[in-house]
Amino acid sequence: MKKLGLDCVYLDISHKPVSFLAEHFPNIMTRCLELGIDISREPIPVVPAAHYTCGGIVTDLRARTNIPGLYAAGEASCTGFHGANRLASNSLLECLVFAEAAVKNILEQPRIDLPDIPEWDASRVVDPDEEIVISHNWDELRRFMWDYVGIVRTTKRLERAQNRIHLLAREIDEYYANFRVSHDLIELRNLVVTADLIVRCALLRRESRGLHFSRDYPETLQKAKNTRIKRSSRRAPYSEAKQNLDETRSVETTK
Ligand SMILES: Cc1cc2nc3c(=O)[nH]c(=O)nc-3n(C[C@H](O)[C@H](O)[C@H](O)COP(=O)(O)OP(=O)(O)OC[C@H]3O[C@@H](n4cnc5c(N)ncnc54)[C@H](O)[C@@H]3O)c2cc1C
Repeated sequence: MKKLGLDCVYLDISHKPVSFLAEHFPNIMTRCLELGIDISREPIPVVPAAHYTCGGIVTDLRARTNIPGLYAAGEASCTGFHGANRLASNSLLECLVFAEAAVKNILEQPRIDLPDIPEWDASRVVDPDEEIVISHNWDELRRFMWDYVGIVRTTKRLERAQNRIHLLAREIDEYYANFRVSHDLIELRNLVVTADLIVRCALLRRESRGLHFSRDYPETLQKAKNTRIKRSSRRAPYSEAKQNLDETRSVETTK
C-alpha cells in the first residue's frame, strides 16, 4: 500500500452465496451493510490495523512503576506478562489481571493525606471557537505516524514525521494556552508527546530490531540496548527544532 500510495486494498468474497456469508460472517456483513457495502456483491475496502505502540511503562507484577504511588495497567503498561514474543504485549486479559493486582496493592498501603491541589484556573481562557483544529490535527498525527513511522522506517521519513510533530506541538500548545481544555485536547497533547518520543528514539536506533526495521540501518547490532532519554527540559516537544536537536544529542543508549 505504501509503495503504491493506496488508501486501502480490497477483500472480495462476492463469489460465495449470500447464505454462506450470512452464516459465516453475520457481524461483518451487517456492519458493512450499515456502511453501504454489500459484501455479497462488492469487495470490502480494508486497511491493516495494528497495535500502535509496543512496550510502555515498565511495571512489576503488582502493576507498580518505579515512581512510588504510580501504577500502570493496560495499553499504557509494559508488564512482560506475555513474554517478549507477543507483538504488542498488551491484551484485555492483562488489563484485568494487572488492574486487580494494582487495586490489591493500593488497598494494602497505609492511607496518606493528599496535598491540596489548587483548583484549575480557567479564568483567562475562552471556549474554543475552532474545535476542528483538534480533530484535524488528530487525523494528521494518526496519518503521518501510520505512513512514516510504521515498522519499516527510513531516516528521511522519520525526519519528515519529526518536522510535522514540531508544527503540531506548537499549534496545540497555543490552543492549550488560549482555550478551555477538553478531554480530546489533553489526549491529543499527550499523543503528540508520545509520537515525539517514538520518533526521537527511532532516529537514534541505528540498527534494525524487532518492530523497528530501518532501511538505512538494516543490520542488527550484536548487543541489544535500550534507548533512554534523559530529561534535559520539561518543554519538549513544545520547543523549537534547535532545542529538540540539543535534547536529541543528550539521549544516551544504555544496556
Ligand atoms: C488492532 C488491535 C487488536 C487487538 N486485539 C486484541 C485481541 O484480540 N485480544 C485482546 O485481548 N486484546 C487485543 N488488543 C488489545 C486490547 O484492545 C488492549 O489491550 C486494551 O484495549 C487496552 O485497554 P486500555 O483501557 O488500557 O486502553 P485503551 O483501550 O486504549 O483505552 C484508553 C482510553 O483512555 C482514553 N484517554 C487517553 N488519554 C486520556 C486522557 N488524558 N484523559 C482521559 N481519557 C484519556 C482514550 O480515549 C481511551 O478511551 C488489540 C488491540 C489493538 C489495537
